[in-house]
Amino acid sequence: MALWGLHWRLVWLDRGFCNMKRISIFGATGSIGQSTLDIIRHDRAGFHICALTGARNIEQLAQDAIEFGADYAITSVDALYEPLKDLLSGTGVTAMAGRAALVDAGDLPVDLCVSAIVGAAGLEPGYRALARGADLALANKESMVAAGQLMKHTARNSGGQLLPVDSEHSAIFQALQGENRQSVERVIITASGGAFRDWSLAQLQSATPAQAQTHPNWDMGQRITIDSASMFNKALEVIEAKELFDLSPDQIEVVIHPQSLIHSVVGFCDAGMMAHIGPHDMRHAIAYAMYYPNRPALTLERLDLAKIGRLDFMEPDRAKYPALDLAYHVMQQGGLMGAAFNAAKETALDAFIAGQIGFLTMSQVVKQVLDHLSIDTATTSDPLDLDNILAMDALARTVAFDEINKI
Ligand code: NDP
Repeated sequence: MALWGLHWRLVWLDRGFCNMKRISIFGATGSIGQSTLDIIRHDRAGFHICALTGARNIEQLAQDAIEFGADYAITSVDALYEPLKDLLSGTGVTAMAGRAALVDAGDLPVDLCVSAIVGAAGLEPGYRALARGADLALANKESMVAAGQLMKHTARNSGGQLLPVDSEHSAIFQALQGENRQSVERVIITASGGAFRDWSLAQLQSATPAQAQTHPNWDMGQRITIDSASMFNKALEVIEAKELFDLSPDQIEVVIHPQSLIHSVVGFCDAGMMAHIGPHDMRHAIAYAMYYPNRPALTLERLDLAKIGRLDFMEPDRAKYPALDLAYHVMQQGGLMGAAFNAAKETALDAFIAGQIGFLTMSQVVKQVLDHLSIDTATTSDPLDLDNILAMDALARTVAFDEINKI
């Protein structure tokens, strides 16, 4: 693309004169995107923003693109092109719109791309950036769930690094620095238990979207907050951990930790354990990925252990959180089951938010989709082929719609 070509020449000019990182942020208007911009706000000399992307919130997108002097502001929604262009008129920021423009933004020559779109919609743009050789700061866990093997294969070929942003995976990544991966026995991923940690199974029958979208510890987007209440978020994270760190399912444990201060623990073969502890602030994990392998000084909250006093841990109740068992089933099956699982989960979540199905019905729908898809279809297709992954995603959504309409 001619436009990107011009950029590429400028990159080399830029790199000759300074160590500024060129960065794109996909999902800039969301919770992770805004935290990323806040880090850059404190280090303006360290980054040049090539592209910021969003979907519906074009006012925020335009405001940030102007503040940070981004080259491009891209909304995935075609119909919002004219209003975005108007908001950016005379600012020097180029407005673009549509799914194709978003995915093509992955081809921009950047050093680092923050993948923070919610859902499977984030897979293709992040994949393209990784394939181009950019390092990928990965908040979009759905990419690893749906396409873990493809993402790792692509990173190996392009030289781009997969840098986890999810706090649990950043914790594992940090605990593994300097360690021999062969000596890892297990990882323990912590879970807050979400909005309904202290609710009974009977109470969950009538849980509403409004009740599910209040997280006890973290301030996050609506979808991940509800996924935390159902533990679908933890289920996705278990699969993400398997893919990112090449673990087998039986090496991954989940423990409820109501304080959410220990983000994950790595257990080694000598019985030693490394836990990562930090405040409820995603800027720690985002900054670790953005500056990796360096640790710049950050003016973020420091934990006072004496004030915290105690840390609690407990087994998750598998009857209350069937999503966890589904995740282990998906990992055992392998192939494209992760893509099917994520797509079915996203469809069931939409239906729950729309008031079409109950809270506990979400996991029933996902189970029905997994049962319905023949193991042959999901496990024998090539998981390194993006078209196969997208086709499985589409198929699982159709089956999930059918299941929901039968209810
Ligand atoms: P938000 O809902 O806050 O933000 C989502 C972003 O994606 C927004 O920029 C939104 O645009 C954009 N978006 C939504 N739908 C589409 C689409 N179809 N195409 C293109 N862009 C789209 O989500 P979060 O920031 O909470 O989460 C982002 C990702 O990070 C998720 O995968 C989540 O699991 C993961 N994550 C989040 C954490 C958190 O603390 N929030 C912690 C760990 C992981 P717009 O707002 O303009 O409509």
